[in-house]
Amino acid sequence: MAKYRGAVCKLCRREGEKMFLKGARCFTPKCAFDRRGYAPGQHGKTGQFSRKRDSDYQRQLRAKQKARRTYGAMERQFRRYYEAAIHKRGLTGLTLLQILESRLDNVVYRLGYAQSRAEARLLVTHGHFTVNGRRTDVPSMMISIGDEISIRDGSRKRTYFKSLADVAETRTVPGWLNRDLRNLSGAVMRLPERSEIDGNLAEQSIVEYYSR
Ligand code: SF4
Repeated sequence: MAKYRGAVCKLCRREGEKMFLKGARCFTPKCAFDRRGYAPGQHGKTGQFSRKRDSDYQRQLRAKQKARRTYGAMERQFRRYYEAAIHKRGLTGLTLLQILESRLDNVVYRLGYAQSRAEARLLVTHGHFTVNGRRTDVPSMMISIGDEISIRDGSRKRTYFKSLADVAETRTVPGWLNRDLRNLSGAVMRLPERSEIDGNLAEQSIVEYYSR
């Protein structure tokens, strides 16, 4: 199970915008993008990445990289998601985003049980969640309509989970999910609509990138 192990804040600086990959830290003055809002590296301020990106290829590549980094998917895995989206009915770009939203770590994050997708991924990897009553430690697991996600009984006694309901209550849950704070669980009611997914993702450019 591969994952990106480099400096996370560099990804925001490379994409030229805040992607909120670090949870609470992203809203503090410690945010690296707020402090150094230019591309990382020796030539970040003046080099090629600081110039205007106006070629079609640059736009498509950056759109793909931004979506991939937002959801924490590796290159090959992201391509597999795209290939799965091609074979489904409907708009390929939207279907791709729906596949990304269906990852277990994303669903845990959307339910408000983690402050970032990275944290959700860690919690899942440590086996704190069950899907339909069965323990899982695979953050990329695809969640289907009707699936129920809960916090494992053995994990509820831990300090983090004891106060989780209060923390999660402050987070808004999208309409395609149903959260049960009392039982620290949630269920997928339907696929997300485009308006319920991050608006700054350019799915059409991603489709163009892979259609070249
Ligand atoms: Fe991006 Fe958050 Fe790091 Fe700021 S703190 S650069 S928003 S990951």
